[in-house]
Amino acid sequence: TRWVYAFGGGAAEGDASMRNLLGGKGANLAEMSALGLPVPPGFTITTEACNHFYAHERSYPEVLGAQVEAALAGVEALTGKRFGDPEAPLLVSVRSGGRASMPGMMDTVLNLGLNDATAEGLAALGGDRRFALDSYRRFIQMYSNVVLGLDHHLFEEILDNHKDRLDVTVDTALSAGDWEKVVADYKAAVEEELGEPFPQDPKAQLWGAIGAVFASWMNERAKFYRRMHDIPESWGTAVNIQAMVFGNMGDSSATGVAFTRNPSTGENRLYGEFLINAQGEDVVAGIRTPQALTRAAREEMGDRSPSMEEALPEVFEQFRDVVARLERHYRDMQDVEFTVERGRLYMLQTRNGKRTAKAALKMAVDMAAEGLISREEAVMRVDPASLDQLLHPTIDPASPRDVVATGLPASPGAATGAVVFDADEAQRRGGAGEAVILVREETSPEDIHGMHAARGIVTARGGMTSHAAVVARGMGRPCVSGAGDIRIDEKAGVFHVRGRTIHAGEVVTVDGSRGDVLSGAVQMIEPELTGDFATLMGWADGFRRLRVRANAETPLDARTARQFGAEGIGLCRTEHMFFDEHRIQAVREMILADDEAGRRAALAKILPMQRADFVEIFNIMDGLPVTIRLLDPPLHEFLPQTEEDVRAVAEAGGLDADKLWRRVRELHETNPMLGHRGCRLGISYPEIYEMQVRAIFEAACEIAGAGRTAPIVEIMHPLVAKGEEMRFLRNLTDRVAKAVMAERAVELPYAVGTMVELPRAALRAADLAESAEFFSFGTNDLTQTTFGISRDDSGRFLNAYLEKGIFEKDPFVSLDQEGVGDLIRIAAERGRAVRPGVKLGICGEHGGDPASIQFCEAIGLDYVSCSPFRTPIARLAAAQAAL
Ligand code: PEP
Ligand code: MG
Repeated sequence: TRWVYAFGGGAAEGDASMRNLLGGKGANLAEMSALGLPVPPGFTITTEACNHFYAHERSYPEVLGAQVEAALAGVEALTGKRFGDPEAPLLVSVRSGGRASMPGMMDTVLNLGLNDATAEGLAALGGDRRFALDSYRRFIQMYSNVVLGLDHHLFEEILDNHKDRLDVTVDTALSAGDWEKVVADYKAAVEEELGEPFPQDPKAQLWGAIGAVFASWMNERAKFYRRMHDIPESWGTAVNIQAMVFGNMGDSSATGVAFTRNPSTGENRLYGEFLINAQGEDVVAGIRTPQALTRAAREEMGDRSPSMEEALPEVFEQFRDVVARLERHYRDMQDVEFTVERGRLYMLQTRNGKRTAKAALKMAVDMAAEGLISREEAVMRVDPASLDQLLHPTIDPASPRDVVATGLPASPGAATGAVVFDADEAQRRGGAGEAVILVREETSPEDIHGMHAARGIVTARGGMTSHAAVVARGMGRPCVSGAGDIRIDEKAGVFHVRGRTIHAGEVVTVDGSRGDVLSGAVQMIEPELTGDFATLMGWADGFRRLRVRANAETPLDARTARQFGAEGIGLCRTEHMFFDEHRIQAVREMILADDEAGRRAALAKILPMQRADFVEIFNIMDGLPVTIRLLDPPLHEFLPQTEEDVRAVAEAGGLDADKLWRRVRELHETNPMLGHRGCRLGISYPEIYEMQVRAIFEAACEIAGAGRTAPIVEIMHPLVAKGEEMRFLRNLTDRVAKAVMAERAVELPYAVGTMVELPRAALRAADLAESAEFFSFGTNDLTQTTFGISRDDSGRFLNAYLEKGIFEKDPFVSLDQEGVGDLIRIAAERGRAVRPGVKLGICGEHGGDPASIQFCEAIGLDYVSCSPFRTPIARLAAAQAAL
């Protein structure tokens, strides 16, 4: 087996495709070397050697020694230096480098190969004894720490004592003679601690460092990092051994880092910083302020110290060419590290650079325009979930954060406003143009108007699909839900959280993307929907198969949905039209009615209002399909719940308070989610659904009659479990639809279908398909009923499941593809067997989640439907799923 891969001198035994074997750093060093770029020669010990090390009681494969010797001889030949030779000492760096980057988690040793003799040799060679002794003492400290396990502290104390003695504060004030004394003390300290002298044999040093790097794969930091980022232990780390080059050999030497494009804006301009006469750690450590790379950047920053372009013009030209070549070669923005040793450029690392969502978008579109990548690749380059950052105002990452409370990131974006505890007050003040944040224990449908008028929402209770979360996402309002530490004292007009008290009217900022509530106003960045965003979305639309619709029930939602490219409405929840404060009176009359005649009389008052809503929505959707879901929530949600409220409502509406209170108690349910809701309402009170179907068809006929494009109407029945239910509902729908169309003498195509949101519905999909022309998977309820976990209460215990790794993701956010997904697969299969063309879609919150969309593509659904603000995410995710 080959355990060692050499690179250098314009050649390499490995290449960029061998990342798994050589690690990211090793693979790219090989690639750069083979491209003929200036890379200090070296070699990589493979990740397989690391795995062997752990599989064999921390020992090496037998032939590794010989292979390392041979590779080292190669480096000596290429550099003209020799390991341990005082006349021309070769020094090397020994670095870790896994398949996935694990910044700073594992160990590194620099300047290896120095000992008493080679340090003097280096001094003679470079003509700079101070530099040589400084390097030697750095090496002793680093090696003693990483390989011999001694604390940094030991060495820092010695150095401080010397500085005190010399009465200086900075390292640069020490002379060669001073460093010589420091080195002597360092060596004495090591010998005292360990009972043996600091190793003088470079080969022994080398094997010590190799072992330490392999061992660092299992240090606590690295293990923790791997758990956080799902990096398997079996990957192992490679070890990169490379000839040292020095950026600290005077004013023609330097070291720096650069990105080929700006990683935060995406602008196509070299971006980075460097330091003259310094080593890599100095740039990272932030002790000296680094300088700009280009003259233009320096001038923009108003900096006085010269840029690399000005200080080292020739090397800079070469550097600019090299990184341009790297970007063309890798066809992506590169993040590089480099060193200049006495006017000679060396590349130490290159990799695809991390970037913000905005930069990713701009780079993808620019690179496709430049011909560097195809449009398909451009579409694949942008993480759909990251678009969230672009579609809502977000908090400027540079601004300070005073976190008051934390909860779930329930609806992304950020908003600032005054704290308000009451929905009516939110509506009043919000309607008057004031920025308010609605803070509630939890929200109910009665708070809708207040949520709408608020800029942001905070709840103390509730999960990711709680009422507040769903509604907030639908409206595009930032929301933090389930902020469990908040104690609201509405009477006192304050909330308490972790020892702080926030008063009504105090200004807070909701960061719905992170789940934080911050004190005060925080700097924001506004979204941008034109330009690069529009271009990339256009490309994505050309590649996707899945249609994308939106969940919308208000004219505002419908307009937002169209603006964000929705191709119809996949879920119009009609109950929101019942909650309107002007209508709730008639709704309550209906609920209080003693008989069917009384209910019909009350429903007759609601009908014209519903019709007007549908006319408006159909007009906005302009001929696109609109799926309307008939009434779903249990009736008691429309009634006041406390005796006090009952009295107030009765008084305001001229109702009998006793009767109202009796009805409230009659309708009380222990388990409303499993109670008298969904189509069960339509089956026990058919007149409710009849009224809704009538309102829908009267609206559609009105539009067609006025010569405008009639909508494609799809009537959807919620919470169906049995074929018989569906047959009953289908007959009801057809009967009313036909009657209305006959009255108006208008013929319109329409479809009747069902939501699939109960396990029984999925299993008996064949029965449903007999009378349903489409299925829409209501994965919020289907997840709730499959797991038996309440969607409104999951927030309280789900975190424990996530922390313990029992759930990888919140199943209300990302579809449980194994369990809930299996039911969907079964339903699709059994439904199609009876009705081959049955239209299939998804309208739960999962319809806007990229991983869930991938699943929908894989099982061949026809469309996904999600909150208006998530439609761009769904369009992009659908395109990626299809490519
Ligand atoms: C669902 O259950 O997934 C659904 C879309 O309906 P709702 O959220 O209104 O219950
Ligand atoms: Mg549902």
